[in-house]
Amino acid sequence: MQHRTINFSKYSSFKIGEEFEVALVEDDFSDIDKYYLIGSCNNTLVGTNPPALMMLSKKYDYIKIEDNVLKIGGATPSGKITSFCKKNDIANFEFVSHLPGKLGGLVYMNAGLKEYEIFNSLLSIKTTAGIKLKENIYFGYRFTDIKEPILEAQFELTYGFETEKVAIFKKMRSNQPSTPSAGSCFKNPEGDYAGRLIEEVGLKGVLKGDMCFSLAHANFLVNNGGGTFDDAIYLIQEAQKRVYKEFNIWLECEIVVLDKAYMGKDSPIYKRD
Ligand SMILES: Cc1cc2nc3c(=O)[nH]c(=O)nc-3n(C[C@H](O)[C@H](O)[C@H](O)COP(=O)(O)OP(=O)(O)OC[C@H]3O[C@@H](n4cnc5c(N)ncnc54)[C@H](O)[C@@H]3O)c2cc1C
Repeated sequence: MQHRTINFSKYSSFKIGEEFEVALVEDDFSDIDKYYLIGSCNNTLVGTNPPALMMLSKKYDYIKIEDNVLKIGGATPSGKITSFCKKNDIANFEFVSHLPGKLGGLVYMNAGLKEYEIFNSLLSIKTTAGIKLKENIYFGYRFTDIKEPILEAQFELTYGFETEKVAIFKKMRSNQPSTPSAGSCFKNPEGDYAGRLIEEVGLKGVLKGDMCFSLAHANFLVNNGGGTFDDAIYLIQEAQKRVYKEFNIWLECEIVVLDKAYMGKDSPIYKRD
């Protein structure tokens, strides 16, 4: 596989991380098990010791209509998806303009805003292991059980782009900080809000280095300039410990942490004690 050097302090939405080599996936899938797949790192915290990384090549950056179905390549940025839908008067993708990322990451995370989720109009995905229909994918709130890289996703084609919806989504996002972050840090526990819990345990706005849970939205871990991976991890663990102690609720990370010391079931951020 070809490689590309990426400076994650520029590439990732958190603006955290060093330079690492990333393998480019094109047609040869023989070695992919050795690598962890990234999209555009809008939901990802890159550590100092990440696993070997790979990303889809430009070959998977496309969007087209074929046989009355909308087909989108895994490396297609969300902005391109919304522009295409607006230009071609296609419905159901208005919310995507507010979700930074590429199609593969959006589908893998089942990204969305409230009841608008990418799975709503999904028909099937094409992965390195073949086609998988939606009914054979287990998915829920910011979760899917997809194991292989998503090369393409196919969606129902419905006409009628609603410009008013774009304004509604923009308003929904108005309480979110524009400081570098990776969106919501934790998933909302059932019947509650991670932001409320973080505020209750006194962590809203508390600085560790240049990182803090935002004063604008306590579930957004933000980088005020020179934030580091260690500072981010410290705050994540502090929030998990305090919320567990006070409310007996374990905050599950929505962001993906890419560092060997914090990945897998034995990771301290997955443990309850
Ligand atoms: C300011 C801000 C606001 C946000 N608001 C929201 C929001 O309202 N709702 C929401 O849902 N999200 C939100 N996010 C998070 C982000 O937009 C989504 O999670 C998006 O799907 C990330 O896409 P990505 O390409 O950057 O994925 P990455 O961060 O690169 O990867 C995320 C995960 O997806 C997997 N992945 C990436 N590409 C593929 C692929 N081709 N095949 C299989 N797996 C893949 C990776 O392995 C990783 O586990 C926000 C982020 C930011 C920075």
